[in-house]
Amino acid sequence: MRDPRVPWGARHLSSGAVLVVTGLSKRYGTVVALDDVSFGVERGQTVGFLGPNGAGKTTTMRAIMGLVALDAGSVAWDGAPIGESVRRRVGYMPAERGMYQRMRVRDHLVYYARISGQDSTSAARAADVWLERLGLAERAGDTVQSLSSGNQQRVQLALALLNEPELLVLDEPFSGLDPVAVEVLSGILREQVAAGAALLLSSHQLDLVSDVASQVVIVDHGRVVLRGDVAELQAASTVRYVDVQFAKPTEWRPEGAATAVAGDARRHRVAVRVDADPVALLGDAQRQGDVVSWSFAPPDLSEVFLDAVGRRAVEGADGDAVVHGADGRAGR
Ligand code: ATP
Repeated sequence: MRDPRVPWGARHLSSGAVLVVTGLSKRYGTVVALDDVSFGVERGQTVGFLGPNGAGKTTTMRAIMGLVALDAGSVAWDGAPIGESVRRRVGYMPAERGMYQRMRVRDHLVYYARISGQDSTSAARAADVWLERLGLAERAGDTVQSLSSGNQQRVQLALALLNEPELLVLDEPFSGLDPVAVEVLSGILREQVAAGAALLLSSHQLDLVSDVASQVVIVDHGRVVLRGDVAELQAASTVRYVDVQFAKPTEWRPEGAATAVAGDARRHRVAVRVDADPVALLGDAQRQGDVVSWSFAPPDLSEVFLDAVGRRAVEGADGDAVVHGADGRAGR
């Protein structure tokens, strides 16, 4: 299997990335916002763009949209430097809302579709389609400023989706949405990508990223620290997690290098090395009590993320903090 930590760069140019970000660097005074950021997004692919607060996600996305004066680096679309005509067609949703607050919702969508190049008939049709799909039809005649924060977020998403974009760059699209809207948006994004769009999506909600993204790029302190196929990254971890639920409160701490990471009296989640024997672990649990459910699985995306950004304190066997590195090795 490919080492997921190998930089993409040229490999992605040749393997079908339609959006190619190469060597982005940006300083604000002494703050290094971006330090040689490179990755690619293919058509029909969703890349989850992850990182702690201040890691450089918004700056990268703004750079793709030509909104940041870079110190170094380039952004290419379909093999050529990305230009204004392509950017006009990108479905971009900024983290900070940028809408005309006093405009009525439908007028805003039509206006935006028109300045993006649609004729008045198709602009009106697209506005109505996205108002309906995002649950805003009843608010079409209201001003943007009169909407709740979540509904303003829906308008911002409608603006991003209005022009049937080949590239979607969405900065925190799920923030502030209720669970119904999250479900609707996830479905829309899957559909756009299935139709061939390239999607770059930042979010702190890693469960939602897992649902829609097959690939991730993880940044920290302006640098890419991990990237690749989510399933490959999970499988490449040297850690596996055992989840056991007992019928009654049960003490369980299997032998070996297992580390308890979560749980309560009935549920236990322990980290073990990838080469641990799952059958032996299950047998060990069954000797302790009545096992109701059991799993032996690679880390989930949030665990991959926490390992990638370097520090995860978990309770060790002796009660001390144990920190797992990206390779799953525990150290103190
Ligand atoms: P978050 O998850 O909190 O939204 P982020 O990953 O999007 O964070 P950025 O907004 O890209 O992070 O910020 C990266 C770094 O660059 C931060 O240290 C931020 O303070 C700094 N930065 C970004 N824009 C500016 C600016 N216009 N002036 C000064 N510093 C900036």
